[in-house]
Amino acid sequence: MIEVTTYDTAIIGGGLAGLSAAIRLAGMGHQVVLIEKEKYPFHKVCGEYIGMESWNYLNQLGLDLKGMVLPKIDQLQLTAPNGNSFLSSLRPGGFGISRYLLDHALMEIAKKMGVHIMQETKADAIDFDGKFRVSYNNEGVQKECISKTCVGSFGKRSNIDIKWKRAFLDQQDKRLENFIGVKYHLQTSWPENRIGLHNFENGYCGISKIEGDKYCLCYLTTAANLKKEGNQIAQMEANILSRNPHLNSIFLNSKVEESFPVTISQVSFQSKTLVENHVLMAGDAGGMITPLCGNGMSIALHTGKIAADLTDVFLKGKITREEMELKYRQEWQRKFGIRFRSGRVLQAFFGSNEKSNGFVGFFKQFPFLAQPIIRLTHGRSF
Ligand SMILES: Cc1cc2nc3c(=O)[nH]c(=O)nc-3n(C[C@H](O)[C@H](O)[C@H](O)COP(=O)(O)OP(=O)(O)OC[C@H]3O[C@@H](n4cnc5c(N)ncnc54)[C@H](O)[C@@H]3O)c2cc1C
Repeated sequence: MIEVTTYDTAIIGGGLAGLSAAIRLAGMGHQVVLIEKEKYPFHKVCGEYIGMESWNYLNQLGLDLKGMVLPKIDQLQLTAPNGNSFLSSLRPGGFGISRYLLDHALMEIAKKMGVHIMQETKADAIDFDGKFRVSYNNEGVQKECISKTCVGSFGKRSNIDIKWKRAFLDQQDKRLENFIGVKYHLQTSWPENRIGLHNFENGYCGISKIEGDKYCLCYLTTAANLKKEGNQIAQMEANILSRNPHLNSIFLNSKVEESFPVTISQVSFQSKTLVENHVLMAGDAGGMITPLCGNGMSIALHTGKIAADLTDVFLKGKITREEMELKYRQEWQRKFGIRFRSGRVLQAFFGSNEKSNGFVGFFKQFPFLAQPIIRLTHGRSF
């Protein structure tokens, strides 16, 4: 027996894009359901450095960021596998907060705003026949909800992408896909206001402070690097990452928290469609920027906001569905097109040891070029 409930908007995936869109739409008076396959709070692979551009918006959503006493980060240290190092100010910089804390706090706000949160619930299919039918399995019972609009915020790669055979899964630029991500929370000694970006053969590793006395260390590398080391993370860290003396020193002088590392695979930076089957794709589901740019979280929040605002105008009958979809694509390209292209170009400089050594050496020689490049990858307050 299939149970059916009807909403104004169904949001599939409760990361930053989905949660922020849900809070905004509920605040505008709409009936919203948010479906998330995990149970909050939970850890996610992410460097947990969030650009200042998101500060005001997160406060508007109802977070008391000041009260959370979070580290402000305004310095960038770039290091190369050969030990070369470059230090720069980072303007406007960012702050550190774990996804465990941030996503959970936003979920609590969404719940208070009347969003129907379904946790530990995986959406199996999203079909459109003038309305959306989202089917999901909950405690062994197959159910369905119906909505007038739908936001797809299910992250970098999900079962829905595979079901829809989305084009990014088949793209041929191998330089932009098949990465893995690894994250730790640890205690170490590292300047509180600094984000480190340490390069190693075929990858880079970020470190910066989050809440409490914890640091987040998170790296991205190719699946081939891990395979070369017998699929053993510890072996890869010892044989490849630790060749960078800065990283070696961090690994030797840190205490890792329980339940880490957390890992992800099949990370791809290929471009994606922004509307699929009439669903507005927000956050990583609409495009994943290389972590090198350090602002995927801000883009997730910002795209969730744009999707929510256009959904609201559609639900009020002021634009057609076609207009909503077109405006979403246009707005997304206008706000993020250049940042994504810059991210892909920058990613190409981080591969072999020679490239990374050359890149860091270049900035040591021409330090005044760092700020314009940082500006290209960061956005304005929204
Ligand atoms: C190694 C690495 C380091 C990074 N470092 C940073 C950083 O320092 N700063 C920064 O700003 N960005 C960083 N990013 C990027 C950032 O993590 C993402 O851009 C951001 O998390 C995107 O948010 P989202 O809401 O789109 O997706 P997510 O946060 O991934 O949320 C998607 C949600 O959808 C759920 N889901 C998936 N499928 C289904 C389904 N079928 N049904 C129900 N739920 C489903 C998932 O469980 C998940 O909770 C990093 C990324 C990587 C890979």
